[in-house]
Amino acid sequence: MSSIPSSVKSSSPRVTIPGTRFHKLRRMVQSICVTIFILLPLFDVMRIDITRQRFYVFGAELWISEFSILFLTMMFVWILVAASAMIYGRFYCGYLCPQMIFSEAATTLERAIAKWVKHNISGTSDAAKKLVARGLFYIALLPAAVFVTFVFVSFFVPPADLLHRLLHLDIRTAPGIVGASITLITFLDFAFLRQRFCTAICPYGYLQNMLADKKTLLVRFYDPNEQCIKCQKCVQACPMGIDIRNSSHQLECTHCAECVDACSAIVGKLGRTSLIQYAWGEGAEAATKKLTWYQRIGLRDGKRIAIMVLLFIYATGLSVAIRMRQPVMIRVMPNRITLYSVAPDGRVLNHFRILAVNRSHADTHVTLSVTGIGSAEIVGIDKDVLLKPGESLQHDFDVAASAAGVQPGINKMQLQAAASAAQKPATFDENFFAPTDAIATPKSVPATAR
Ligand code: SF4
Ligand code: SF4
Repeated sequence: MSSIPSSVKSSSPRVTIPGTRFHKLRRMVQSICVTIFILLPLFDVMRIDITRQRFYVFGAELWISEFSILFLTMMFVWILVAASAMIYGRFYCGYLCPQMIFSEAATTLERAIAKWVKHNISGTSDAAKKLVARGLFYIALLPAAVFVTFVFVSFFVPPADLLHRLLHLDIRTAPGIVGASITLITFLDFAFLRQRFCTAICPYGYLQNMLADKKTLLVRFYDPNEQCIKCQKCVQACPMGIDIRNSSHQLECTHCAECVDACSAIVGKLGRTSLIQYAWGEGAEAATKKLTWYQRIGLRDGKRIAIMVLLFIYATGLSVAIRMRQPVMIRVMPNRITLYSVAPDGRVLNHFRILAVNRSHADTHVTLSVTGIGSAEIVGIDKDVLLKPGESLQHDFDVAASAAGVQPGINKMQLQAAASAAQKPATFDENFFAPTDAIATPKSVPATAR
């Protein structure tokens, strides 16, 4: 197959064919994606709130400090993306990517306006009509860019706060300036860049090409009997302006299958099947062979097995981490600047520190108790500390015990911290240090002295 001249690529109009099989499928999937894209931040299904340092996933509120869950989530998503790219190729680019969806919508809007101007404005030159159409397109694009930016920024800033800023046309505060800048970039992107973004800026296309193997789903031109009538319809239908007959592995090709529809429409009239098809790899048999789901996944391929195992490990780790997550995080630790001190009343004191964070949406009461040493009690902190949602506590306290009630040297004890009825109390096994000599006067013993 000889290469197609580059002039064909650049001069061809790009017209998808409404009503055809993959075109309809793409529009349906893309509509669902746009709806999900809009709803995700509004209902806290997936959102990173950088102002409050929170991460929302399926309604659960995670704190940025919950690093293990965030790390496992990111790794899981990353490996899921890699696994899907390995099996389904560039399905994401062709069907799910918001940049692609909005770029195609901008092209459709531009064409519709140009057509309207052509049919409704008369008595002016073609150049003037083009100018008017361009101006109308920019006017129509501006509110669309504001809306897309609003949804995008809602992934990082509470939507209510964002709406307030938008309604007050805030372009003086730092968040307002950032929002206005992103709106401008979005406008320029969909006015001028569109699908060029995919090849010039987005790294995902390069990554997908690296991850693809010999069984990855792709769109390919397969014409062993040289039946191509060179009608160029596949090139004209391509939203990326390329010719699939040159290769299935062109960086621009998102495997959207608009060219499959175009070829089907033409050669179908001649009683033939499309010369361009989806196929699991490029082998001679790949275009016609029907594969079961486990054959598609390629369970006998080492690289694929490795990525599936990794996916399973991270999914398991993530589910365990989420199940172990406590709505109120409590840590108790010794404060060993001094091993112990002796109070004026002769009691021995050991110093501790409590950290507590209420990550739930309800008030909680944090209580501390000590067991293991009969005479020991908690001093220096209220027995019941109220923590409102989002509040944290960091406080030093002492465990006090009478000298007669403890062994000289090291004593074992347990500190218990309870937060709410819904959460199991946390128990911390700790050492209680007591003097080895008779107590004469109040004193503190530095930890280094032992
Ligand atoms: S060549 Fe690739 S990007 Fe162009 S229509 Fe075909 S599948 Fe889509
Ligand atoms: S649409 Fe089909 S027949 Fe026409 S040029 Fe493309 S591959 Fe050949």
